[in-house]
Amino acid sequence: MSTFVDVILPVPLAGHFTYSLPASLISLAKAGCRVVVPFGNKRTTTGLIAHIHQTQPEGVELKEVLSIVDASPIVLPAQLALWQWMADYYLCSIGEVFKAALPGKLKGVSSTLHTPLSTLHSPLTLPLLSPAQSSALSQIQEQWQQHAVCLLHGVTSSGKTELYMHLIAEALASGQQVLYLLPEIVLTSQLTSRLQAVFGNRLGVYHSKFSDKVRGEVWQQQLSDAPYDIIVGVRSSVFLPFQRLGLVIVDEEHEANFKQQDPAPRYNARNVAIMMAARTGARVLLGTATPSFESYFNARTGKYGLVTLTERYGQVSLPEVEIVDTMELRRKRLMQGAFSPRLLEQMHDALDRGRQVILFQNRRGYAPHITCHICGWVPRCPRCDVSLVLHAGANRMTCHYCGWSATVPAQCPNCENTDLRSHGFGTERIEDEVQAAFPKARVARMDLDTTKTRSAYEDIIRRFSLGETDILVGTQMVTKGLDFENVSVVGILSADTMLNQSDFRAYERSFQMLSQVAGRAGRRQEQGKVILQTMSAFLPLLQQVTNNDYISMYQEQMLERRQFSYPPFTRLVFVYLRHRHLSEVELLARETALRLRHLFGTRVLGPDEPPVGRIAGQYLRRMMIKLEPSLPLQQVKQRLWQTRQELLTMKTFTAAHIYFDVDPL
Ligand code: ADP
Ligand code: ZN
Ligand code: ZN
Repeated sequence: MSTFVDVILPVPLAGHFTYSLPASLISLAKAGCRVVVPFGNKRTTTGLIAHIHQTQPEGVELKEVLSIVDASPIVLPAQLALWQWMADYYLCSIGEVFKAALPGKLKGVSSTLHTPLSTLHSPLTLPLLSPAQSSALSQIQEQWQQHAVCLLHGVTSSGKTELYMHLIAEALASGQQVLYLLPEIVLTSQLTSRLQAVFGNRLGVYHSKFSDKVRGEVWQQQLSDAPYDIIVGVRSSVFLPFQRLGLVIVDEEHEANFKQQDPAPRYNARNVAIMMAARTGARVLLGTATPSFESYFNARTGKYGLVTLTERYGQVSLPEVEIVDTMELRRKRLMQGAFSPRLLEQMHDALDRGRQVILFQNRRGYAPHITCHICGWVPRCPRCDVSLVLHAGANRMTCHYCGWSATVPAQCPNCENTDLRSHGFGTERIEDEVQAAFPKARVARMDLDTTKTRSAYEDIIRRFSLGETDILVGTQMVTKGLDFENVSVVGILSADTMLNQSDFRAYERSFQMLSQVAGRAGRRQEQGKVILQTMSAFLPLLQQVTNNDYISMYQEQMLERRQFSYPPFTRLVFVYLRHRHLSEVELLARETALRLRHLFGTRVLGPDEPPVGRIAGQYLRRMMIKLEPSLPLQQVKQRLWQTRQELLTMKTFTAAHIYFDVDPL
C-alpha cells in the first residue's frame, strides 16, 4: 500500500496539498515535520506535514516528496489545530498561517540551547502586595473558578505588573508555563529586566526585532525537555509551541497592535491566545487601565470575570489633566510653535526641580505637509493616494504607506518658486523646537524612525530611566505601559487628529490613548500633571479623560454602538478588493456587492473607497458586513470564502485580490 502526506504550503491557496511518500522516507515522516516538495514550475518549496495516510486521491497524478527536513516534529499537534482554527476564523489559508508562524530559517536542532534554571532567583521575597493588590489577587483566583478569562481593570500604575508577577510565580510553582503578551516591542525591554530580576533565565523573549536565528532557537527550546517556563513576547508568540501552558497574561489588552493588519493572517493575538488557552485549559488574565469595549462587555455580561483596582500603588493620586484651548491661543497669537505658554511653564518648572517630561505627538517626521504657497503644488506619492511627509534631517519626503521617498526639490516643479513651506508638526520638528526652547535640556525622540534596531529603542528607554535624558518626545510608542518614576509632566501637543477621526471607534480609541499617555505622569512620588492641548476643548470626551471616567464614556458610547449595530453588538467582516487598474477594481466591487447582497441582504454595506484608496500602485475598495450574534458564524464564513473562490476563478478577475479582515480594528 502506498503512503501519502497532506502538506501545508506557505501559499494563499486553501487547503492541503497531497504528495506521495517514497518508500525510503516512510519511516522518517511524522506530522509536524517539514518536507521539501516540488511546487509550481520546476521549483521546490518547504512545507509542513499535516497528515500521513493511505488514501490515494482520485484522478490526479501525485508528485513525490523530495526530502524530509526535520528528524522530529517542529510543530505540535495542538499548534496545527490552532492554526487550522485561525485559518477558518480569519478567512485565510492555513498556508498563510504557517508562513507567518515559523521564524525564517528555523534550523535543525540547535547545539546552543540555553538551559533554563530550575529554581527561582529570589522566590517571591519581592515587593509585598498592598492590601488592594492582595484583595485583587484573591478575587482573580476566585473569578478563575468560574471563568477561564478574567479582566483586570486597574488604573495606570495601580501595580498590575506586580500582580502578574505573583500569578506567574504561582503558575511556575505548579509546573505550568506562562505566556505574557505585550502589544509593543518597546515594552518588552522594560518588562524583561523587571521579570529577569525575579525569574532569571526561565524567561524567554520572542519578537521580530530578534534575528531569525535567535527566534529559531527559542522555538527549538520550547520543543525541548527544558523549555522556557515564561515567554514574553508580542503577537507572534502565540505561534510558539507550549507543552504545558497554564497561564496567559495579555497586558494592555485594549491595544489595536494585537491585531495584525497585513499580510494575512489578520489575527488578533489577544483572541487567539484566549482560544489557545481554552484548548489547553489554561487561565487567562487580560489587564488594562482602559478596557476594549469587547472585553468590558464580556466582563459585564458574565462571560469573563471582572476585577478592578481603582487606586495607584502607594496612594499616589492620578495625574491632574489640564485642558489647554489652542484655538483661543492661536487667535491671540500666544502659541510658540506647537507649544502653549502653560505647557512651557510646566516644563520649565519640572526641569528646574530635576524632574522629567514626556511629550506626545501622534505623527512622525518633521512636518506632515509640504506646499508651494504660490501655486498650491503639494508633493504626492506616485504609488499611493497620499501626500508626502517631510523628514528634514534626511532632507527627504517620504510616503508613510509604501515607503517611497525622494529628495526635497529645491524649487517647485510647477512654478519654480524656491520657497517651499512645510506645515504642521511631526515628532522630529517637536524635538528641534524643544531643543531650541530648552537649550540645556537633554532631549531624545522615540518613534519608528529612531527605533529601527533593538539596541536603539533599548538605549532610549534605558537612558531616560537612568535620568540621562530630560525630555522624551515620541509617538504613541511613549503612551503605552512604560514605567518611569521621575516623570512629572506629560504634554499632549495636539489631541485633534485623533479626536477628528470618523471611525466608529474614534471615541473609544481617543479615550484610551489620552488616558494611557496621561498615565505616564507622576507614577511614584507626587501627583503628576498632564497638559492636553486641543482645538476642540469643548468635547465631553475630554471631561471624561480629565475625570478618568471610563464607565461614563463606555455607557454613553455603548448607546451609539447599539443604535447603529456596531461591535460588540455585531461582528464585522471587511471585504477588501484590490487591483492594479481602477476600472477593474470597480467592476469587481460591483460584482462582489451583487453576490454578497444576494447572500446577506442589508447586512452588506459599500463598496466604498477606504481612507487611502490606492496603496503601492493598487486600487482598493472595501465592503463591510455586519453580522448579528444569532447568525451561524462558521456557515457565513464558508459562504464568504466560497464567493471569493468563485470570483477569482472568473477570467476577468484573475489578476485581482480579494481578502477579508475579520473583527477589524
Ligand atoms: P501598572 O502595571 O498597573 O501600571 P506597575 O505594576 O508598573 O503598575 O506599578 C507601578 C509602580 O509601582 C511600579 O514601579 C512598581 O514597581 C511599583 N509597585 C507596584 N506594586 C508594588 C508593591 N506591592 N510594592 C512596591 N512597589 C510596587
Ligand atoms: Zn509652485
Ligand atoms: Zn506610497
